[in-house]
Amino acid sequence: MDPRLNKFKKIIRECNYDNTYKMALAKALVELSSEKEYEGDFVVFTVYDAAHKFLKYYWNQTIYFNLVQGSNLKKIPEVLQYTKRLISKFFEYNENKKPERFEKAEKILSEKLRDHYAKTIDNIACTICKDVAWRFTRIDGEFADDIYVFDKTKKVFVISSEVVKLLKENAEDLYDLINYRWGMILETFNSSPRINKKVKIIDREDIKRNSLNKYKVFLDAENPERRCFLCGKKIEDKELSIDHVIPWSYVYSDDLWNLVYVHKSCNSTKSNVIPSEEEIQKLKERNEELFEILKEKQESGKWIDELEIAIEKDYVDKFWIGCKQ
Ligand SMILES: [Zn+2]
Repeated sequence: MDPRLNKFKKIIRECNYDNTYKMALAKALVELSSEKEYEGDFVVFTVYDAAHKFLKYYWNQTIYFNLVQGSNLKKIPEVLQYTKRLISKFFEYNENKKPERFEKAEKILSEKLRDHYAKTIDNIACTICKDVAWRFTRIDGEFADDIYVFDKTKKVFVISSEVVKLLKENAEDLYDLINYRWGMILETFNSSPRINKKVKIIDREDIKRNSLNKYKVFLDAENPERRCFLCGKKIEDKELSIDHVIPWSYVYSDDLWNLVYVHKSCNSTKSNVIPSEEEIQKLKERNEELFEILKEKQESGKWIDELEIAIEKDYVDKFWIGCKQ
């Protein structure tokens, strides 16, 4: 294997666990290398090119899953602070508060929130110059100049076209390695479940949520009048929706024990909010009743087994405590 590719992998494998910047830069370099054909002996990526990728990765991980990216819980990594600020500007503008992939949100950012967007890129670029670019290539106390040279005055990465070609040709393997390490780092300071799956899914164009309609037959068994879990009133068909009591962004899974009927309008006002103690209590009682009813009806299957396990192992409380952290 080419020694430069080996070094690049070594940087990924041996990166420390303080934050995830190195993973973001590794991924940005691979992505930039793969995007188009480059000519000449050397390729130049600006720090702004890299900053744009950083923003995309952190935006998508944050807006969907709100993952913690640094070991110091009292001091959020700078890049994440800038990203979160931009996300809140985006939500101020886009009132429906629905998470939106960066690739889609970018149109609004560049048209309607141009100054905030440009400022965010500048700030991230500044952090990359200050903290990431020079540190990245340091292996065993030496700088691996054969991977790239960072020109601090021009704010550019100068990379030989051979290295660019290596990164491009090995892009799939490198993404897997980076995502795997990124997930491992996140596991040290995130208590939420399915971290690796969350990191991996972010690369996909579409974060699809599965239809929850198949749960209606079970929910109806316990709640035939289809009363709203939040306000208690009956729900008209066109207002009916199924909600995750413990937010989807945390559990990243659809489980009968966590699903209830709510009004669309009640749902949209509470999206991603951590449930109250009363709601948790109510959900636990609902689950016990639901399980009794299904047992009486002699229903069986995977979802009912899962419901039973959830009751026995007290998932509702466990996940609730986890998502409050
Ligand atoms: Zn309601």
